[in-house]
Amino acid sequence: MKIPLVDLKANYLSIKQEIDSAIQRVIDNSSFIMGKEVEDFDKKFADFINAKYSIGVGNGTFALHLALIAAGIKEGDEVIIPVNTFIATSEAVSYCNATPVFVDVEEDSYNINPRLILDKITEKTKTIIPVHLYGNPCKMKEILEIAQEYDLKIIEDCAQAHGAEYNKIKVGNFGEVSTFSMFPAKVLGAFGDAGSVVTNNEEIAEKIRLLRNHGRHTKYEHLIEGYNYRIHSLQAAILNVKLKYLKEWIEKRIILAHKYNVLLKDYVITPKENGKHCYYMYVVRVKDRERLQEYLKQNGVETGVHYPIPLHLQPAYKNLGHNKGDFPVAEKLANEILSLPLYPEMTEEQINYVSNKIKEFYKLDS
Ligand SMILES: *Cc1c(COP(=O)(O)O)cnc(C)c1O
Repeated sequence: MKIPLVDLKANYLSIKQEIDSAIQRVIDNSSFIMGKEVEDFDKKFADFINAKYSIGVGNGTFALHLALIAAGIKEGDEVIIPVNTFIATSEAVSYCNATPVFVDVEEDSYNINPRLILDKITEKTKTIIPVHLYGNPCKMKEILEIAQEYDLKIIEDCAQAHGAEYNKIKVGNFGEVSTFSMFPAKVLGAFGDAGSVVTNNEEIAEKIRLLRNHGRHTKYEHLIEGYNYRIHSLQAAILNVKLKYLKEWIEKRIILAHKYNVLLKDYVITPKENGKHCYYMYVVRVKDRERLQEYLKQNGVETGVHYPIPLHLQPAYKNLGHNKGDFPVAEKLANEILSLPLYPEMTEEQINYVSNKIKEFYKLDS
């Protein structure tokens, strides 16, 4: 049996006709930039998140950049982020000439450890960006308490967490601004790059709308200098179709992940949920990772490591002067985590197969 980490083709084939005709409609209308599909997507995605406004943009990194601008982040400011995240979170901070300040993560949930945030707050700190990694919500109660006490803004990085909930509220509603990525493999994925900024604040929504489209108020009037950060009509059209199925796909991810939990609990450390986890990735902690990965590969099972190098050890951040040992939990996790195949079209038979191969590996070993 061959089981990929994700199967985007299977997802497309499950709704091929609808997608094909949505694409054809955009081509027929030839309204490729800021067409009606974009307006529809902004409305539909906001509805999905139960937020007031969503502003579609070209990708999740643009979304973070605009969110930081809207939060007023400027040169010299410090922005607190988890050390275990994709580099886009910290890149966006650098785009504003601000400094990313890393915080170690929790060993069980893999997310930013609220208790370690306090040590990193200085008079330059302006914002915390909790990242709901792999689709697991961060401990927002603790993080919001700190933000309130120190008068810091929250920007949620929800790139991996479409439909995840904390205390029954969808993530994306806890920050002043929140950001999503619709990179193809994400929980909601376009056929190329796409993203969105979500907010419940009308003034911020208006500002983001201007910023994404050259500060345009009318066709030829520019109120401010902005960016060309627009989402394409074609991507919006595809996402509008996919949004109809998103809830169902997330429920499938959760059922499959819980099946893994039951089958694997005696062999690996399974993920701890801080709320409704939407399982963008199913990440476990394992012994002897490299050999297990090789064994699974030989048996047709593709796996991944997200992420093998924490941000403070990335060559790109040498200038921040961190050393090995500075973030011990993230460093430990980087050596133990393994992402197993998980996507809505996966069958229980496939979950059984992957689980059996993992059991086999550890039994052979003992
Ligand atoms: C994917 C991702 C982003 C960036 O999104 P792009 O659409 O690829 O620009 C940002 N943050 C996290 C945590 C991500 O996983």
